[in-house]
Amino acid sequence: MNITELFNHKKILFSLEIFPPKKDSSYQTIYNTLLKLRGLPVDFISVTYGAGGSEAQREKTVEIASLIRTTYHIEPVAHVTCVNSNEEEILELLEKLEKNQISNLMVLRGDITPGIEPKNVFHHASDLAAFIRKNAPSFNMVGACYPERHYQAETLDQDIENLKHKIDAGVDHLITQLFFDNERFYEFMEKVRKTGISVPIEAGIMPITAPSQIDRIVSMCGASVPAKLAALFERYGNNPAAFRDAGIFYATEQIMDLIANDVQGIHLYSMNNVDTATRISDAIQNILIAENQTD
Ligand code: FAD
Repeated sequence: MNITELFNHKKILFSLEIFPPKKDSSYQTIYNTLLKLRGLPVDFISVTYGAGGSEAQREKTVEIASLIRTTYHIEPVAHVTCVNSNEEEILELLEKLEKNQISNLMVLRGDITPGIEPKNVFHHASDLAAFIRKNAPSFNMVGACYPERHYQAETLDQDIENLKHKIDAGVDHLITQLFFDNERFYEFMEKVRKTGISVPIEAGIMPITAPSQIDRIVSMCGASVPAKLAALFERYGNNPAAFRDAGIFYATEQIMDLIANDVQGIHLYSMNNVDTATRISDAIQNILIAENQTD
């Protein structure tokens, strides 16, 4: 199934993102996670890909995506990064994905990993998208975008100009980096639409459920933290259970505001956390049904 075509008959998509565990010993956990996620009304589950990971680790993305399709009957999206790959390696990976009937890809450049020299074959996600469009045109491609600008772009406007290359290369649908301030997303959307980019854009939302996540997440993606969220962090920093509730509450409120403002999709960075995914899904399920009801 082509997930972008879902927008032809659904107003809002709801999707989750999971990652392959680093250790083989954690695999039972991911199977249990998927088993519990199976009941959630999600349109797709995307599986991340370690840009600097070993061959064996990369195989895990294909394996888990395949399992999501065959065992759990949910549409998978396999992430593919290109910074550390050459054309042959990408072709080999595409062949494996095709064999496993995985037809939706998240095409990414990936981050430059310290200690690993980039292969300098694909410089940007747009190069990967163009390569896939030419060599394996049946794949549906999703790309990344950044409401608060990608860290290497000097300005948001420049980043959005660059985003056009991704669309011109054949990306069908975009998912944003996580953000906590909806106003930043609305401003971004206005700019993106003004440039003529018309593909569907899903909003990436990550509930912060433990104090240990704050610094890591914020430094990794540069998302700005609104005063209201900072106050929740401060107020419940010493109470893990209350902190967790507050994080889920904030994300749910953020999602409700996005829905009220006609967002096209919510992509939940659920970090393999079943409880978070379930609580948010339960909170918005009837709202999604109402929004997606056709007249
Ligand atoms: P690009 O689109 O190539 O952009 C990178 C920089 O280059 C930007 O500053 C952009 O403005 C500029 N640029 C883009 N195209 C051009 C062009 N044609 N000419 C000139 N400049 C250009 N990382 C992983 O390792 N594994 C994952 O599974 C993963 N999943 C992700 C999922 C989502 C939804 C998001 C938002 C990010 C994900 N990432 C993942 C992180 C991502 O790999 C990094 O953010 C990376 O630094 C940029 O990837 P990109 O595909 O956006 O790159």
